[in-house]
Amino acid sequence: MDIKMEVSTLKGVGPKLTEKLNKCGIFTIYDLLLYFPRDYEFIKSDVDFDEIDGEEKQILSCRVIGYDRDIKTKNGKVLSTIKFDYNGHIVLGKWFNQKYIKNTFKMNNTYDLVGKFKKIGKMLEVVNPMVGCNDAKKSEIIPKYPLKGDLNDRVIAKLINEALDKVIITDNLPKYILEKYNLLDLDTAIREIHFPKGKIELTSAVNRLKFQELFTYSMKLLLLKNNLRSSDGISFQWHDELVKLKESLPFKLTDAQTNVVRDILRDQKSKYSMNRLVQGDVGSGKTIVALIAIFNVIKNGYQATLMAPTEILANQHYKEALKIYKDFDIKVELLTGSTSAKEKKRIKELILGGTPLLVVGTHALIQEDVDFTNLGLAITDEQHRFGVEQRNKLINKGRRPDVLVMTATPIPRTLALYMYSDLDVSIIDQLPPGRKKIDTRFYTDKNRMEAYDLALREISSGRQVYIVCPLIEENEKMELNSVETLYEELKSDVFKNVTVEILHGKMKPKEKDDIINSFKEGNTKVIISTTVIEVGVNVPNASVMIIENSERFGLAQLHQLRGRVGRGEYASYCILIGKANNNKTKKRMEIMTSSTDGFFISEQDLKLRGAGEMFGLRQSGDIGLVLADIYEDIDILKCSRYEASKLISSNERENVKLCIEISKSIERYSRYICFN
Ligand code: ADP
Ligand code: MG
Repeated sequence: MDIKMEVSTLKGVGPKLTEKLNKCGIFTIYDLLLYFPRDYEFIKSDVDFDEIDGEEKQILSCRVIGYDRDIKTKNGKVLSTIKFDYNGHIVLGKWFNQKYIKNTFKMNNTYDLVGKFKKIGKMLEVVNPMVGCNDAKKSEIIPKYPLKGDLNDRVIAKLINEALDKVIITDNLPKYILEKYNLLDLDTAIREIHFPKGKIELTSAVNRLKFQELFTYSMKLLLLKNNLRSSDGISFQWHDELVKLKESLPFKLTDAQTNVVRDILRDQKSKYSMNRLVQGDVGSGKTIVALIAIFNVIKNGYQATLMAPTEILANQHYKEALKIYKDFDIKVELLTGSTSAKEKKRIKELILGGTPLLVVGTHALIQEDVDFTNLGLAITDEQHRFGVEQRNKLINKGRRPDVLVMTATPIPRTLALYMYSDLDVSIIDQLPPGRKKIDTRFYTDKNRMEAYDLALREISSGRQVYIVCPLIEENEKMELNSVETLYEELKSDVFKNVTVEILHGKMKPKEKDDIINSFKEGNTKVIISTTVIEVGVNVPNASVMIIENSERFGLAQLHQLRGRVGRGEYASYCILIGKANNNKTKKRMEIMTSSTDGFFISEQDLKLRGAGEMFGLRQSGDIGLVLADIYEDIDILKCSRYEASKLISSNERENVKLCIEISKSIERYSRYICFN
């Protein structure tokens, strides 16, 4: 049987069932076999009469010995009873409203009945029992599938059973890997994950498939990153004016910043290209580190580029660069989606001409027609907002430029290893001096006024306030409504005597820019915004962050938002308004109110939400993990990553071909499983 064949080619699959299966994403035999159970029911079979307890489901082989007459019950149902024999005990099987059930059970035949068997003296009674699906095997572990509509587990199991009878699954992991890690072959693993013989077999099957997932994904990432690993790069000298630049800064670098700058300068000098990740919590001062690195590159006569995920942030970096470089004759340009065509043309020509300069920008930078002649350093800020592919595109704008990746969402170390496995890592684990801990509180709706009172008090002592409404992903219009409604309400009531502005993604870049500027200059006191201000925005005078519907945000995102305050010398507050209607939410809010350590928070976020859901990861493209959990399965990850990188670096042609195939695979396991 060909694996690509439609499910409708299986016995008993008519148009109706096909449609139901399609709704579950099952179109082909292949989809069906990869439709893994989400859970299992562990059922004992053929236990002694004494062990039957009526509490847990059990499977008993029962022989039909007679049929009772159907009875109408008081509430109008039809009760059909069939009598069975189980090891000398009578079993009454009872079904409601299933008139034709008797046709299923033939006199004197034996069936595996699954259900809760109650004792009535020496007899047993079972209501609506199911018939075991895999007749002879009598599995004690019943798969539970993620079902939609009125499909049931039995139907799926039956189809899978039938499909498995007709295919042989050829392995596609090299044999030495299977042997080394004692992994099941793929054929067995797929069979066992659906119909495990026992718990041990189930674990082995799951492990094998987890290995598969993590291996495939590691390989994909490694291949993407492989082109960074080019051996020779540019060797930059340490320019004399670096010292002068450092002396001119408005503050002294923290020790952590100094160390990271040192790492970077060392990379710059080396004849290999730099591939470095700078991780630092919000407010730890990554921008200045980038500006120092850029300075040295430009002073060496090369070009540098700094890509940020939003225009607001790109603007801010642009201005910061102008400020920091004002005495140093460094050319800085800004290229974003809203740069005028004429201006764009001018900047592109400059870039193409090879003039040493810094170009700060957004995604506009990676568009096709921006060509650097002389790119020495490519930096992405807030890397977690970009995909790996976008980072690669930026890098490919030059010939072996140095690469610096900055991320503010601290990623748990396990994940960093996974996502940025080919980068060297520097961590800024220290905040600039004088920062006060941000006082974080969780308020339900009825304490809302307290939050506003606090805001008003802060405003009267000269500070400023952010109020953020959640992003409602599926519905931009609703998002707009919620922020606009709140704006209208507050402007005409609580904040009627202060300048309040609204900010959201649908505004023109110029409008956004004006509002941010007015806030930076202290003219606007309150910004009511969607999450457009989430990353990077830096207004040290702001001291209050109020977050509406905080339960809708991920922890990493809340931490980012909170990071908009506490960036100066003032005591700052973050008020989370929301509902804590379940334990998970309560737990999450507790984490926020008790910690301001981004690393800790992201670890907790990962634990509570699972990696696939983690903010940032979701945006890095399809992570493609169904069974494996990066956090829980770190040991499998390590092994599979090691083997993947070994396979990639080996020169055998076959291996290279395999690697490319795997990296191309978009579907979970496609190309990775061959069926005969
Ligand atoms: P992030 O790491 O979140 O990108 P920024 O680079 O925006 O942080 O810096 C946050 C704020 O801290 C800025 O106002 C910046 O000028 C200031 N800052 C950075 N480094 C220092 C330092 N060593 N001492 C004092 N303030 C600093
Ligand atoms: Mg930043």
